[in-house]
Amino acid sequence: MPNIIGMIFGLEKCAVVNVRRGRLAEGENVELSDGRTVPILGQEERYKYLGIQQTFEIRQQENKMETERELIRRVRRIMNTQLSAKNKMEAINIWAVPVFAYTAGILIWSKSDLEKLDRKIRSILTQYGTLHPNSAIERLYLPRKEGGRGLSNLQDIYLKEEKKIKNYFQTGITPIQKWVASQRYPSSGETSTHEPEIEDFKEILKQNWQTKPLHGRFFASLNQSDVDKLSSSTYLTQGYLFPQTEGTFLAIQDQVVPTRVYTKHIMKQQVQTTKCRLCDKAEETVQHLSSGCSTIAGTKYLGRHDNMGKVVHQSLCLREQLLPHFIPHHIYAPQTILENETTKVYWDLSIITDRGVEHNRPDMVVWSKKDKKAYIIDFAVPLDQNLSKAYGEKIAKYEPLAKEIKNMWRLEKVEIKPLIISCNGLVHRKTTEHVKEIQLPANTILWMQKAVILGTVGIIRQAIYPH
Ligand SMILES: [Zn+2]
Repeated sequence: MPNIIGMIFGLEKCAVVNVRRGRLAEGENVELSDGRTVPILGQEERYKYLGIQQTFEIRQQENKMETERELIRRVRRIMNTQLSAKNKMEAINIWAVPVFAYTAGILIWSKSDLEKLDRKIRSILTQYGTLHPNSAIERLYLPRKEGGRGLSNLQDIYLKEEKKIKNYFQTGITPIQKWVASQRYPSSGETSTHEPEIEDFKEILKQNWQTKPLHGRFFASLNQSDVDKLSSSTYLTQGYLFPQTEGTFLAIQDQVVPTRVYTKHIMKQQVQTTKCRLCDKAEETVQHLSSGCSTIAGTKYLGRHDNMGKVVHQSLCLREQLLPHFIPHHIYAPQTILENETTKVYWDLSIITDRGVEHNRPDMVVWSKKDKKAYIIDFAVPLDQNLSKAYGEKIAKYEPLAKEIKNMWRLEKVEIKPLIISCNGLVHRKTTEHVKEIQLPANTILWMQKAVILGTVGIIRQAIYPH
């Protein structure tokens, strides 16, 4: 028979067990017609089929321990690599988690088994500084484009695999599928519509995230109508941050960094004062440190703001051939005026007008000579909840200047383009629109956001963990 269908048995992968009345019994090797033999499996020997150790039964406990050991070993190996935050999560999903997923439907994992395994993986992430222990757990398992980190959740995986297997048997037409279905799922035919939908897992996570008093604040900010959600998650979808930086940044968004207010009111620890350790004036909250502290306004906030602006300045000047070549962002210093036949670009310079205006020093003015047009570009890094307000303020602030410039330079049009990204990286819808209107390269937002994020993480780290 094997010769006819061209099939070869890999005898080295075969073994025989003898079972008499439900117990493993002594037996002999089986001799095949072609003279080869299939060896008998000894009493204490194991036979591995599709990765599961088995004899004539599946040894649940033993196999589960082995699965857990291998899963955790692989997670640790991934954490010891130099991969970025996103790549580590993906490596866990595609290299570690399948060790477990494979066993779904064969090994029986209880809800608490699964919770324990998920917790174990989280605690390893915490050990490596990738996940702040008080950060929103929900975000870890949500897709990156929705503000999450895209890690597979074992409970979710297990339920989905089980459902697939159940579906395979219940919809199968072969006698064996029907028999298995009748044995394993005897009365579930009509009740299946009442089972909780597993696809809802993501929705449940979002609801939980939304309703948490502290973590829910960033959820609300992310879902403000003026926020470009997709652009705001660029740092997550691109995944360029170091694992520790990503972990710290999410802890800042989740508002779980140990500021004095957090230490006193959330951690319930004794503190001498809840006033800011830098200015000693305001309450030391993460918002205050991120964007409201007078002590660092002229230095660190300004630096963060300028770094974001420099990205736009360089990108625009390269396009207008005002610069010969790209200079790495961290060493790029814009010149106050750059000019050629077609374009003139001002950086942080007072524009002297015939009639004086109160605000005449925007971050950038771009004068396009041939189009008889100019843009006033101004940057801001406000708190998440002030995103819309900041935009409106910029427009109002520079309207008089726009009018003056239009008259003085005899232009057809002067437009104000506020480019705003909040200190937690939220991108205003208008920022995305304006970057397109100015025809800057698509990755401009990525670099602007990166400048803001590294700025905020640096500011918080220096304030809270100065050493
Ligand atoms: Zn302060």
